[in-house]
Amino acid sequence: MATVSEEVRVRFAPSPTGYFHVGGARTALYNWLFARQRGGKLILRIEDTDTERSDPAWTEGILKALEWLNISIDEGPYFQSQRKNLYLGAAEKLFLSGHAYACDCTREDIDGRKKEGSKPGYDNYCRERGLVPGVGRALRFRVPDTGVTVVNDIVRGEVEFANVSIEDFVLLKSSGDPLFVLAVVVDDQDMGITHIIRAEEHLPTTPKALLLWQALSDKKLPVFAHLPVLVNEKRQKLSKRRDRVAVEDYRAMGILPEAMFNYLTVLGWAPKDGSEIFKPEKALAEFDLGQVNHSPAFFDEKRLFYFNGHYIRSLTDGDFVERALPHLEKAYPNLDRQDILSKFVPLAAVTKERVTTLEESVGLLAFLFDVPFSPDGDDFQKLIGESDFAESFMRDVLEHFKQAADADGRGSLAETGSGAGSGTGFDAELLKAVLIQCADKAGLKLAKAQAPIRVSVLGKKTGLPLFEALETLGPREVIARLENALARLAAV
Ligand code: GLU
Repeated sequence: MATVSEEVRVRFAPSPTGYFHVGGARTALYNWLFARQRGGKLILRIEDTDTERSDPAWTEGILKALEWLNISIDEGPYFQSQRKNLYLGAAEKLFLSGHAYACDCTREDIDGRKKEGSKPGYDNYCRERGLVPGVGRALRFRVPDTGVTVVNDIVRGEVEFANVSIEDFVLLKSSGDPLFVLAVVVDDQDMGITHIIRAEEHLPTTPKALLLWQALSDKKLPVFAHLPVLVNEKRQKLSKRRDRVAVEDYRAMGILPEAMFNYLTVLGWAPKDGSEIFKPEKALAEFDLGQVNHSPAFFDEKRLFYFNGHYIRSLTDGDFVERALPHLEKAYPNLDRQDILSKFVPLAAVTKERVTTLEESVGLLAFLFDVPFSPDGDDFQKLIGESDFAESFMRDVLEHFKQAADADGRGSLAETGSGAGSGTGFDAELLKAVLIQCADKAGLKLAKAQAPIRVSVLGKKTGLPLFEALETLGPREVIARLENALARLAAV
């Protein structure tokens, strides 16, 4: 007889107590990959029982980030804060079946009874006192004194916990509020979860969850996969206080969602052919939870930027403009979108090649939009102020640029931007020829000759290709900036 294979149901269960963490995103992604591969369902459950630390704004952030990453959810979000009655019902059931007992010990009582060398945790004082549950009394789970609880973990294999090492843990606080471990197990059973894929930090509570699971029902136990912790370059666990961990921060600096998706995929797993940069289809085809590495995964921001640079370069120029435009609009709120576009579009192709985040475009294009424009002081001093050739060379270039501008159909003072490749007189090709000619005359190599012109007109010693940038800036602005630089030089 053919067996009907059970439907895979996984859940992503974040607590909305802060910015959505890259570790959370990696957990969500691995759940998503697993569900999609198995034709299963991904359920989103918001674990907001900690009312003091939870905030709907954080939930909103999680939903937005999942959408941004293209991690689609099949069911939910369910909110634990709306499911308290279920947890209370389960607690009652556990009490009635003898798996749980009421306890009126305070922390002081427990600490006061501790003797040197005694077992850490609760001393089971109330186990046989037969207290009736009620206000001011916690409810504790009666952990078996013998035997072992085995966690069947896809990533770590079988992990055994001696029951004697597990204390009689609290299910309901003395305030009557359910504890996390109870809520999670009740929900996982209620939602028919088959695989629990979550962060490694939850492994120590897993034997408690399994004991609780079995005490509540005879439903098949879930399979676990505890994912490796993310660490920084010092091998320290990523921390909100020390490291940049918020998905939102990466989004704001112009990491593309496809780059983040790809990078998160390789934090603990790699395809067999060793490739690192690949499309989601490859991850879907080849991802294997059983091959996830259990040692910590280094979240290397530099590597993420490298991935991102790759994805940016593979955008069409049009897509790149569309994605980078909001960063420029944010940096220059007083500028009209069309004004930005008219200068940005001609330089999109060369900008795209030089950035690893969209936000970096703002720095590279600042020479087009900064008002008033002013060259970097250090670069100016070093490459112009202390140069023995800059002044005379710049004068010569200026004269020739003026002639080029006059020859230009638009006249030197008529227009500003022209647009690369527009074929007018003041274009990249001609400007380069002019500079080569002036450099030859002065006995200078082109690279050296470009430096004072670049600093005077584009503001910094590095940046976009000089001649395309000059063409886009247009004759009036280029000439004015060269004149200003010469005046500044004369003034010192
Ligand atoms: N709410 C927990 C967290 O955000 C996850 C618990 C679980 O996945 O079982 O860390």
